[in-house]
Amino acid sequence: MHFENAERIRRTLIDRLERLQHAGVMQLPRGKAAVAAMPIDPEAPAVAADRPFADVAAVESTTIGQSGTGPAATRASRSNESTWTTAGTGGLFDSDRADAASDAMGKIPTLEILQQTVAGCTRCGELAAARTQTVFGVGDPAARLCFLGEAPGADEDRLGEPFVGRAGQLLTKIIEACRMKREDVYILNMIKCRPPGNRNPLPTELDNCRGYLERQFDLIKPEFICCLGAVAAQNLLNTTMSIGKLRGKIHQYRGAKVVCTYHPAFLLRSPSFKKETWEDMKLLMREMGVELG
Ligand code: SF4
Repeated sequence: MHFENAERIRRTLIDRLERLQHAGVMQLPRGKAAVAAMPIDPEAPAVAADRPFADVAAVESTTIGQSGTGPAATRASRSNESTWTTAGTGGLFDSDRADAASDAMGKIPTLEILQQTVAGCTRCGELAAARTQTVFGVGDPAARLCFLGEAPGADEDRLGEPFVGRAGQLLTKIIEACRMKREDVYILNMIKCRPPGNRNPLPTELDNCRGYLERQFDLIKPEFICCLGAVAAQNLLNTTMSIGKLRGKIHQYRGAKVVCTYHPAFLLRSPSFKKETWEDMKLLMREMGVELG
């Protein structure tokens, strides 16, 4: 009898460890409090078996992504955080969340390797010679929504992040008006180097950089893309239609739904067009299942 109980406890522990491993957790929480909280009694209610370590998750502590610093660690940590804190609403390790967490963690190194490749790229001689640095992209590598602009400007070239100048601040306000945070989405440009004098990218430059953009989308796999301005919209969708005609509709790009709207820099010059952009955002949010009213 004693042996049977020990065997059942052993099997329960193995089952739970396998589920954790499947969810991408490579290190268990530390400390007596965490261990004490583990529901190892095989007679425990079924709900506990369905949500292994739910109470441990609430306790703490040392998991992948919560050590180290930098964007990768932050993103992985946030990924875990949302998994941990949803224990009460639908199962800590239900397969969708576990897959999303490990998927996000798996994407980071590959995006980072691509970013390093881009940083050394000299395909466009004029841009490579003039740039301070390449501007790859920023945000959640598992984002449902990507915002796509045309090219870095002076502030972006200096800081290495897209949409950080006045236009970027307006984009941040637009994102927040859509009840999201800037970190919830991914922001990138058609090309990764600043064109001199902020001129539009040349067709050859767009062609040169296209492979990087497509690889980014392949890795992030966004469900939705919002093109900001005519250059991004026309080049992504391979059309010459004006932004006025492209906006207000849902387009398709390799399985993602695409909404086009005015570039925030244009909105700063022509604020009366903000109303149209807000209509485009409402369309986009409706498609994403978010009602803005
Ligand atoms: S714009 Fe793109 S393709 Fe051209 S040099 Fe920069 S990274 Fe390379």
